[in-house]
Amino acid sequence: MTKFSDLNLNPKVLKAIDEAGYETPTPIQAGAIPPALEGKDVLGIAQTGTGKTASFTLPMITLLARGRARARMPRSLVLCPTRELAAQVAENFDTYTKHLKLTKALLIGGVSFGEQDKLIDKGVDVLIATPGRLIDHFERGKLILSDVKIMVVDEADRMLDMGFIPDIERIFQMTPFTRQTLFFSATMAPEIERITNTFLSAPERIEVARQATTSENIEQGVLMFKASRKDREATEKRKVLRALIDAEGDKCTNAIIFCNRKMDVDTVAKSLKKYGYDAAPIHGDLDQSQRTKTLEGFRNGDLRFLVASDVAARGLDVPSVSHVYNYDVPSHAEDYVHRIGRTGRAGRDGKAIMICVPRDEKNLEDVERLVQREIPRLDNPLGGSEAKAAPAAEAKTTDAPAAKSDEAAKSEKPKRTRTRSRKKPDAAKVDAEQTETAQADSPKADKPDAKADAKSDAKPQDKKSDKPAKESADKAPAQKADAAQDDKPNNRRGGRGGRGDNNRNDNNRQQNNRNDNRVVGLGDHTPEFIGLSFAERRE
Ligand code: AMP
Repeated sequence: MTKFSDLNLNPKVLKAIDEAGYETPTPIQAGAIPPALEGKDVLGIAQTGTGKTASFTLPMITLLARGRARARMPRSLVLCPTRELAAQVAENFDTYTKHLKLTKALLIGGVSFGEQDKLIDKGVDVLIATPGRLIDHFERGKLILSDVKIMVVDEADRMLDMGFIPDIERIFQMTPFTRQTLFFSATMAPEIERITNTFLSAPERIEVARQATTSENIEQGVLMFKASRKDREATEKRKVLRALIDAEGDKCTNAIIFCNRKMDVDTVAKSLKKYGYDAAPIHGDLDQSQRTKTLEGFRNGDLRFLVASDVAARGLDVPSVSHVYNYDVPSHAEDYVHRIGRTGRAGRDGKAIMICVPRDEKNLEDVERLVQREIPRLDNPLGGSEAKAAPAAEAKTTDAPAAKSDEAAKSEKPKRTRTRSRKKPDAAKVDAEQTETAQADSPKADKPDAKADAKSDAKPQDKKSDKPAKESADKAPAQKADAAQDDKPNNRRGGRGGRGDNNRNDNNRQQNNRNDNRVVGLGDHTPEFIGLSFAERRE
């Protein structure tokens, strides 16, 4: 078996690896480090959890250990799709450069330009950046990329999803033709293939097996759930989620709960909190300091449940996550692989539990086709797969978990009855009712038309219109709250294929989603009760 000491790494890097407690390189490390040290281009097909970050940081540090950085001219560049991922790569550099004098700068949105400028002015060996922020710095004339000797593109498939491919192409063109490129992607979509064919030179291709097909240590299950009534789906689904969490008991030390929509991330986190679960949301609309704080809390064990969108949680390295809950079946099958890969890391056991409502069954089929296995069906812990969370039953079970707060137990069940009986409710009850009904259970939130793709994190489409994302993104103001958008440059020129193709796909997907729910012959704007009765008869 290969050992780190066989890999020709700098002795000071080896010392840091040893101190980090790693003995043997993972397959992607054993495959990528030797050609990278020889100066070759590398195409790594691997995802997070495989040790891919060290597979590029270790050879980079070894190569950079010789030589010095010049003002405004970084010697190497790492591009990451999200701020969190960039911060994680920066942490890796800190770990492995601790016995060397290499400097780095992190260029991400949500941090002032001034601080970043100062670092760049001094000269850095490694620049770790999200594409948009890097282009912003470049266009302000603060950065010269002509001395970049090594360029890393991390999570290229996520870059594609987020519409960053035109930016990546621009950045490639801003760096010298002679640079060495280390390029990583979990999947090889045609657009990614095109980029690698254009910008990589005779790369050494290293592919490590997909996590979802190899990680036998992740136990998977899906609960097929149909609400008692369509307008109760959101409430009942959250109740089912709580029951699934409770059913795991102490085995669930911590969990990431994935939702497809940012709106649901907030609602689910709020609802869990209300029921006494230690939960917090993370998605692109939250400000950076809040996101960092939430993540830190989750990493160090202070926070038990992290409710997340795909983009926000992508690539996050929290070594011991006991459970992943998919509150929704992801609308892109590959996201399932990424989501469940948050658990069962570093050889530990993990469990991935998903809830599938009838309209997500097609997505479930796609997931099962991708992972090439049937995901075992779970029994509903509330005692049946359908209609068990109907109002009367709900009243009972809501009170069941002893750990839940009284306020929470009181608030969910009686609220509708009271609203309907038009008795004057007291202030606390009104409050609880508003939280659950106005924000979560409103039929509006559940309408297929309101369904935003998981990518809403990356491209804040105007949800009220069906305009393509590109149009609204181009019109959007410079300071967007969204993480991905923050990290995009203000005046981009676009490029071939990438973002446009992606948007077309998104639109098709959204169109497909609508088709799945459409009542044939009555148009898209049929009153919901008519749709319900047709749907019932069809089954
Ligand atoms: P990554 O795929 O880069 O996100 O890494 C996944 C996890 O594996 C991180 O927690 C790393 O610290 C850890 N790791 C990286 N290399 C090794 C190794 N050679 N042996 C054991 N764990 C490692």
